[in-house]
Amino acid sequence: MSDQRYDIEELIEKIVKEKIHLHKIDGFVDNENIAVLIRRKAIERITGVILPSIGSTIIDFVETRGNIENAIGAVQIPLGIAGPLRILGEYARGEYYIPLATTEGALVASINRGIKAVNLSGGVKTKILFDGMTRAPLFWVPDIETAIELVSWVNKHFMGLKKEAESTTRHGKLIEIQPFILGNNVWLRFVYETGDAMGMNMVTIATDKACRYIEENFPGKVRLVSISGNMCSDKKPAMVNMFLGRGKTVVAEAIVKQDVVKEVLKTSPEAIIDVNTRKNYLGSVRAGSISFNAHYANIIAAIFIATGQDVAQIIESSMGYTWAELRDNNLYISVTLPSLEVGTVGGGTRLPTQYEALSILGVAGGGKPPGVNAKKFAEIVAATVLAGELNLLAALSTGELARAHIILGRPR
Ligand code: NAP
Repeated sequence: MSDQRYDIEELIEKIVKEKIHLHKIDGFVDNENIAVLIRRKAIERITGVILPSIGSTIIDFVETRGNIENAIGAVQIPLGIAGPLRILGEYARGEYYIPLATTEGALVASINRGIKAVNLSGGVKTKILFDGMTRAPLFWVPDIETAIELVSWVNKHFMGLKKEAESTTRHGKLIEIQPFILGNNVWLRFVYETGDAMGMNMVTIATDKACRYIEENFPGKVRLVSISGNMCSDKKPAMVNMFLGRGKTVVAEAIVKQDVVKEVLKTSPEAIIDVNTRKNYLGSVRAGSISFNAHYANIIAAIFIATGQDVAQIIESSMGYTWAELRDNNLYISVTLPSLEVGTVGGGTRLPTQYEALSILGVAGGGKPPGVNAKKFAEIVAATVLAGELNLLAALSTGELARAHIILGRPR
């Protein structure tokens, strides 16, 4: 580069000798990709480990502002494909190939066998029961009287708070504020529709504006303790999300014919029901779990990684209930996911490989009208969870789980 005003070698050495901090290097160069190279070379020298694989990436770091700091490269996760899965939803209607990023051998094959069984039985029905991303700021007030006054003031001024919050976003719509009181502490759980975005940044910015309005206008004494008071509840397992929903509450169900259960899954509806009841309910209760399923997290994690979702939200997104019962000798099975947090815009969804994975599902970017892509995506995720859950319950009922992992999950 002829007009380059910096010396890469010199900058690497300055990091190694601790004369420049890793995160300051962006200020010395004119391109994020050069900063990534310099940081990686410095880390190679400091640690004595060469990093050619981490350095081999198609990511253009000029485009990743807002996604990463102190970048040195990228890690790669294998991507498999399952399907096509037949879905009869409100937003997802048709057959879908599901991108799954995982290093767990047997997972894609397991989901695929579940898909085969539900497809042969007519497909998976899906419905969205609730759609709302939440942020719950926590306020200090002096006493219980003021706590009650604050809640009633917030109810009375809902439209003013809505106007404040929505002034920060084109797509975010405040639909409700759910109050909770504990002594002199008040949580206000703000619930928003967020279009096709998962919405966490959007609702945090909007709620922050509304909190300022409360602090400035509430006539009593009030102080914002924290914009997030854990009643949201983000990236933690919590019953509040199970009861009230967060992100999307989705149900997927299928009736799997008795002969399909026998021929494809090598078991019986009764055996699957028995395992589901004893394992997912009795076992979960005995373990003190607040989630009642076999492995939603496996499917959710693989789809989240493939499609650029916030992977820390696998925690609450993979909580839910599997239900199975006999229906004219066939197997009725459903999965209910109270807090599935997904988006098709924002966050990591715009990264090139993640965007392509969303495109396979036909949901990349904003929908027309906004919100339909994220809802379609949520239905696809729930339907895939059902296929994965069905297959694992079947495999457990015949004692073949360990064998499948010996065959598919061990390197040869
Ligand atoms: P975002 O990328 O911050 O915001 C989404 C953006 O997309 C908004 O600017 C929105 O504009 C725009 N947009 C364009 N078309 C849209 C459509 N059809 N529907 C909805 N929005 C559309 O993403 P986010 O979903 O709000 O937040 C996700 C990020 O937050 C992730 O990176 C996640 O890791 C991170 N996160 C943040 C927190 C936090 O506390 N801040 C917590 C957890 C996770 P308008 O706003 O003008 O409508």
